[in-house]
Amino acid sequence: MTQQRPSIPAALERAVKEEAGYACAIPTCRMTPVEIAHIEPWSKVQQHTFDNLIALCPNHHTRYDVEKRIPRASVLNYKANLALLNGRYSTLERRLIEQAVDWPPNQEIPIHIGVRILVSRFLDDGLLVEADDLQYLITGFEGGIKTTELYRFTEKGREFIRRWKAAEPLTD
Ligand SMILES: [Zn+2]
Repeated sequence: MTQQRPSIPAALERAVKEEAGYACAIPTCRMTPVEIAHIEPWSKVQQHTFDNLIALCPNHHTRYDVEKRIPRASVLNYKANLALLNGRYSTLERRLIEQAVDWPPNQEIPIHIGVRILVSRFLDDGLLVEADDLQYLITGFEGGIKTTELYRFTEKGREFIRRWKAAEPLTD
């Protein structure tokens, strides 16, 4: 018996296509129409998640998925560059990626709670986590007010940064 594969939710499919501007995510191609490809194959991940989906034209989808003529590392690079290019991530998130290239693996990153929303996409995508909820800076009166939380990049986040660093700059 094969596991029934659920269809990709319409909103997710739209988001993935929007990310690539409804054109093939390979920057030297940019053909339309596009299909939704799983970067890690469905048979392995058994779920549809934004970060594992990418818009490819039918030709590149076949070359990647069926013919295995495009390395997964390259598709990951295309995905990483799309995310940076298309405004999914905030300026703060982009700066963190640039800076974190040179950081040790468990570098703690203090972020004021007032701007937590600026790293919300990193949190949503599992690239960043709270390092330790018990540590915080105190200001104000007795008892203190929690103003700053510490975060660190996850393994997935560090891999994202490594790929971003390795990728050739893409132009559209
Ligand atoms: Zn293509």
